[in-house]
Amino acid sequence: MASIWQNMMIALARSSKVIALMQSTPSLAAAAREFVGGPDEEAALRTAVGLHARGIRSSLFYLGEYIIDPAITRQTVDSLVRLLPQLDERGLDTHVSVDSTQIGYSIRPELGEENGLRLAAAFPARRSAHSFLMLDMEDAAYVDYTIGLRRLLARRGVPAAITLQAYLRRTEADLAGLLGERVPCVRLVKGAFSEGREIAWMHTAEIRAAYMRLAAQMLSEKAREAGLFPVFATHNEELIDALRALARKSGFAPGEYEFEMLYGVRPGLQAKILAAGDQLRLYVPYGAYWWPYTARRIGENPRNLLFVWRALAGRKR
Ligand SMILES: Cc1cc2nc3c(=O)[nH]c(=O)nc-3n(C[C@H](O)[C@H](O)[C@H](O)COP(=O)(O)OP(=O)(O)OC[C@H]3O[C@@H](n4cnc5c(N)ncnc54)[C@H](O)[C@@H]3O)c2cc1C
Repeated sequence: MASIWQNMMIALARSSKVIALMQSTPSLAAAAREFVGGPDEEAALRTAVGLHARGIRSSLFYLGEYIIDPAITRQTVDSLVRLLPQLDERGLDTHVSVDSTQIGYSIRPELGEENGLRLAAAFPARRSAHSFLMLDMEDAAYVDYTIGLRRLLARRGVPAAITLQAYLRRTEADLAGLLGERVPCVRLVKGAFSEGREIAWMHTAEIRAAYMRLAAQMLSEKAREAGLFPVFATHNEELIDALRALARKSGFAPGEYEFEMLYGVRPGLQAKILAAGDQLRLYVPYGAYWWPYTARRIGENPRNLLFVWRALAGRKR
């Protein structure tokens, strides 16, 4: 459940006046680089190349979600269409992460499908084995659309991967169905939206137990035979240790699965994952519309308040 502090930051992330103020504050823009890969594709690619040199893979995400303006949807898809061929040319094993609502599903599903097909056409034929089009998962209303979009992309030959949320009660059945479709990669997350108890696990312990049950399915012989590459996205150190132990017990070596975290979040834990010999991927958002994302990252950890104060204090100087 979101705290008062988190709800305050979410409200600040949505206010158009606050967005305009924050985005025009140079010191805050500079500080936001801690969480954002850059304002455009070129900057994001430079960030991905820098991470690749350190043995870290990335997932690039064009900032923006729940878009209801077709012009912004077009801008998003145009950026991804420019980005996709570059990944191969630069030898990057990078995912491109996409929200279904970014490409038109929150306007009309047909527009989402049309744009999905534009992305499919732009996906390079030659590509690294660890370069997927990763569909993010939004609130429960979009789960069926997102699974349908993945199927559509897969039929067009795109290595389309999907994010599943452990807190949704339906996810075990969804994962079984996706394994039947030979999904090449699943990113497992806890789930970040506010859902009702009829469809979601509510308590931390229940969500963690569901996460481990799903992880066991993803690290099974059946999943391996279906060709699944498991990705575990979490910043929770105790969960990461439990997942590593489960992987070993199930006969999965480092590199046969990976951990994914957000760029800029818990760098100490990122270093520990690398030191343990595990593969790490970082989710690197990019684009001009960076304040709402930055505000939510700040909201997830009240200690980040200091970061805003420092940046705003810098503005006055
Ligand atoms: C790569 C990636 C992709 C994701 N994609 C989706 C998606 O498509 N759909 C979806 O619903 N959710 C997504 N999420 C969010 C996810 O569902 C969880 O809400 C989020 O990861 C918090 O759970 P946790 O297990 O990471 O950390 P928790 O168990 O909640 O926290 C563990 C520790 O990490 C710290 N921490 C967690 N987040 C942050 C942060 N941002 N900054 C600083 N410290 C932090 C906490 O303070 C705590 O100390 C994604 C997360 C990641 C990492």
